[in-house]
Amino acid sequence: MPANPTDPRPGLDAIFFDIDDTLFSTSEFAQKAREASVEAMIKVGLEVEKEVLLQELQEVVTEFTSNYDHHFDQLLRRIPKRYFKGVNPAIIIAAGVVAYHDTKIRELAPYPDAVRLLRQLARVPELVRGIITSGLMIKQAEKLVRLGVYDLLTPTAIFISDQIGINKPNPKLYRRACSDLNLKPARCIYVGDRPRSDVDPPNALGMITVQLKRGGRHEKEEGKTKPSHEVRDFDELKGILERDFALAIPGDDAPRSGTGGHEATPPGMEALQPSV
Ligand SMILES: [Mg+2]
Repeated sequence: MPANPTDPRPGLDAIFFDIDDTLFSTSEFAQKAREASVEAMIKVGLEVEKEVLLQELQEVVTEFTSNYDHHFDQLLRRIPKRYFKGVNPAIIIAAGVVAYHDTKIRELAPYPDAVRLLRQLARVPELVRGIITSGLMIKQAEKLVRLGVYDLLTPTAIFISDQIGINKPNPKLYRRACSDLNLKPARCIYVGDRPRSDVDPPNALGMITVQLKRGGRHEKEEGKTKPSHEVRDFDELKGILERDFALAIPGDDAPRSGTGGHEATPPGMEALQPSV
């Protein structure tokens, strides 16, 4: 929001973020987790080269999508049985699954500049800090909890495609987020990495779009429209917020905004806690 009513710069009521390859490097994490998994499978007796297994696993993910539940089962079905003679296949699959989850606990971390900006934005009075993400409900919610960013978001502003019944790139997902919170799209920013799903749809509604270009896998994708802004990181985004939107971003010692934090836990989120 402008610092004073005569300021000609556009007002801002909300900033929504994508999760994958925006708040953390999904691509880098997936690579580390897959490597740890195939190494663990080899360790319990699967006699196949690591690079061959990684290639097969990549094909499984491409063919069955990243949200499929049985990647390691399918991976092992592709391998002739003579390569794990005398070893129970369930142990090989379990070794892969355990190594994947261990990597998640150890390595899943947000970009430091993303957390820094979210922490500062949580101190801007009345500014909504939300999420609009594509993916499975619990999987996406788990990422927010594990990344440690949930506490910095406006609890009522988390929109997961699986939970809404509308997926990217349908602009209706973005419209639903704005209308649920009674926000005008023109006063909302969306920050994401993919031109076709994170820039074109919110542009179609008149939202302000920011494409994050920090070398992720979708950076070269061609969208139909251009983002309002391109940034390399969240420090650059902070500069835009201050310069183009006159957003007064308080320092880290300022009190927290009344719109975020723990004061309202949306129904269902409590159920997540024991599984983390
Ligand atoms: Mg993304």
